[in-house]
Amino acid sequence: MTLSHTPLHDLSVAALAAALRQRHVSATETAQHFLQRAHSQQNLGAYVALNEEATLAQARAADARLAAGSAGALEGVPLAHKDIFVTRDFPTTAGSKMLVGYQSPFDATVVSRLAGAGMVTLGKLNCDEFAMGSANENSAVAPVGFDAPAPVRNPWDTSRVPGGSSGGSAVAVAARLAPAATGTDTGGSIRQPASFCGITGIKPTYGRASRYGMIAYASSLDQAGPMARSAEDCALLLSAMCGPDPDRDSTSLDVPAEDFSRNLNDSLDGLRIGIPKEFFGEGLAADVRANVDAALQQYEKLGAKLVPISLPRTELSIPVYYIIAPAEASSNLSRFDGVKFGHRAKDFTDLEDMYKKTRAEGFGAEVKRRIMTGAYVLSHGYYDAYYLQAQKIRRMIADDFQQAFQQCDVIAGPVAPTVAWKLGAHGNDPLADYLADIFTLPASLAGLPGMSVPVGFGEGHMPVGLQLIGNYFQEARLLNAAHRFQQVTDFHLHKPEGF
Ligand code: GLN
Repeated sequence: MTLSHTPLHDLSVAALAAALRQRHVSATETAQHFLQRAHSQQNLGAYVALNEEATLAQARAADARLAAGSAGALEGVPLAHKDIFVTRDFPTTAGSKMLVGYQSPFDATVVSRLAGAGMVTLGKLNCDEFAMGSANENSAVAPVGFDAPAPVRNPWDTSRVPGGSSGGSAVAVAARLAPAATGTDTGGSIRQPASFCGITGIKPTYGRASRYGMIAYASSLDQAGPMARSAEDCALLLSAMCGPDPDRDSTSLDVPAEDFSRNLNDSLDGLRIGIPKEFFGEGLAADVRANVDAALQQYEKLGAKLVPISLPRTELSIPVYYIIAPAEASSNLSRFDGVKFGHRAKDFTDLEDMYKKTRAEGFGAEVKRRIMTGAYVLSHGYYDAYYLQAQKIRRMIADDFQQAFQQCDVIAGPVAPTVAWKLGAHGNDPLADYLADIFTLPASLAGLPGMSVPVGFGEGHMPVGLQLIGNYFQEARLLNAAHRFQQVTDFHLHKPEGF
């Protein structure tokens, strides 16, 4: 299916929305086209659930609204959801054996908001178990077309990881299996896979998007956001996703939804971009650095000024995050006890035995590791030494950003120290994964908006992303900075060979 010579799957969200509105193509044809691609590219392991009937029913309803002139802003444009959002029309697993077979009776707020804008759900996308991971190697669920768990593959080089935990989302967008996807970012899970797969993704300010129906990992950090090919497309989705949800998420902020597209074309003349020296130290690979430096030069050409800044506690964000996130996870995951939903062990002697066996069977190794770490740092005698200290440093990290924002409007640096690594390269060394999160964790701990913008290719022709971090509620400014860059470069339009 093509539209004036551009295959449907190469159209942006904005272009698809326009084509649908003008009735050049129907929502049903569009959905069918993407479903067929999802099937033909099963080897990537991106999708974990499809439900053709439900998708086509949504598409027909969109077509009816388009015909009746009552279309939403993104009517008929398909997208797919990270399998951490609960959905009524599709099963939800959060990448865990614990939830295989689980069917939610309701949609997450983010899912229903996007549906309210007219978007059609193609299916659910693979992710690390309970969003814990940096490579999407921790999923315990078999992708569509597989009988057993299989890794999600990076379409730029299928022997490499796509990043995580929203790896399926990044792959679906990069390989044109969906024009856009949702992701969640607790410590980098939108930005890092976006960077590894050469797409654009944004995590808004903590509290912008409702967490209702998003299976909780670390509640004080979890935040939903869009992943698409361009900043313009991300702005369209983000505008539909955000807004208060006071009855369902007590941490959702009481700030009205915004039109995040409104500043896309603003000039960058005089924009002060802070360059944190701690993001450019020894650990940064030369190929990533070269691409980031070139992008910063491009920003100077666009009128921005580069300002050296310091985020002195960058390194501490790793131990701080890997105390706080597991602490919250150990509490959040206590609900998976075999009683109310999900997996239940078959043979047990009494209630306690049932809990133990259920959790031993249902959770994967990384999830267990985090539950144990979390229980430990919260336990009597260690709480003060670990958890409380981490909370204090978390506040100092947030304060460091406020200091920095006295000198600059946005902060820029790498998303990750390297390009995507080979599947299995980190073997059984979880620390190798944790360390790779160093540049995304600070903004997460501070609750700041952050995004990843494709800026070039490094070793093995693998994509490199530039991270932009804004002060609270500065999403529109980040999207503006990314959009202006994308108007003068075409990295976001490159696609992996064969897709
Ligand atoms: N890699 C980080 C972790 O494993 C971040 C994951 C995320 O943002 N969900 O916790």
